Amino acid sequence: MNSRSLVDCIGNTPLIRLNKISDATGCEILGKAEFMNPGGSVKDRAALGMVRDAERNNALQPGGIIVEGTAGNTGIGLAVVGNALGYSTVVVMPNNQSIEKIMTLKAYGVDVKLVPPVPFKDPNHFVHQSERLAKKLNANSKNGAFWANQFDNIANAKFHQDTTGPEIWEQTKGLVSGFVCSAGTGGTLGGVARALKGFSSNITIAVADPTGSALYDYYTNGTLNLEGSSITEGIGNSRITTNLQGAPIDMAFQIEDQESIPLVYQMIQEEGLCLGGSTGVNVAGAIRLAKELGPGNTIVTILCDSGLIYKARLFNKNFLAKHKIQLPEWLDMENLS
Ligand code: PMP
Repeated sequence: MNSRSLVDCIGNTPLIRLNKISDATGCEILGKAEFMNPGGSVKDRAALGMVRDAERNNALQPGGIIVEGTAGNTGIGLAVVGNALGYSTVVVMPNNQSIEKIMTLKAYGVDVKLVPPVPFKDPNHFVHQSERLAKKLNANSKNGAFWANQFDNIANAKFHQDTTGPEIWEQTKGLVSGFVCSAGTGGTLGGVARALKGFSSNITIAVADPTGSALYDYYTNGTLNLEGSSITEGIGNSRITTNLQGAPIDMAFQIEDQESIPLVYQMIQEEGLCLGGSTGVNVAGAIRLAKELGPGNTIVTILCDSGLIYKARLFNKNFLAKHKIQLPEWLDMENLS
């Protein structure tokens, strides 16, 4: 017999060569296929890392409830892990996220509480609401509740440091010379950055940041100003989370939707990869880093999740037009009943 439990299928994702942009830049541009995790995103790793850490610390009891504030993918990851290991999941989520992510959460039996999006300093921000809900559920339920706290729980970045980073080092046989990705919690970027710099201080680490996020300004000027907005989901931040604090990041790129979203369509057409908007930002970052480092370099980025969980937006002409983005003509979504 050759079989594994579901949670053991998280991680060890393939590294896919992005052929067209590799050839165009003269670099090897490689995407870590995190969309191939069981829950369909890079956040399965954070979910498993935080759950295993909570089990070790007795913060999560058998049959307990996992509570989290999430843009969606962490909730899906926690539900996958939770359902497989015997926990139930409750999430608080801003109501401006994709309908497909909300439906996926519900399909896994997650109790989804949608709240209006407000700035982090507002006590009604989804993260603060999830913390209060976790305290309440912990006091009132038989097996207690655990607040995953993905932004500031360093079990998130630690899991990437222990798995994603070393996998990239091994899969490139130590040839990786640049790593770039966007950050939401910063777990992926912070963890991979620490791991890769530990293997070689010569590896350049960059953040690709959408407009509407303060990370570009922070890593460029040391201040946390943010301007504009983005239709990408799950990435960008107005603050430096505990997962990002002290991460060895060398440079930052600011990526507008007009640069990232066309790359989503290009990846579908040229590579056969249908991925979400955050991956468009990552690919844009990889192209910028390739130009920065020059031909001959090996650059790795993250293929975060599937484009199919954003169908109603990424393939919707009217939605896109409002954000000054054009759907390519070959991508004809008209006349569907
Ligand atoms: N892309 C998507 C689609 C995500 O949902 C997230 C996490 N919110 C990220 C990228 C960023 O990952 P991290 O939280 O590790 O920074």
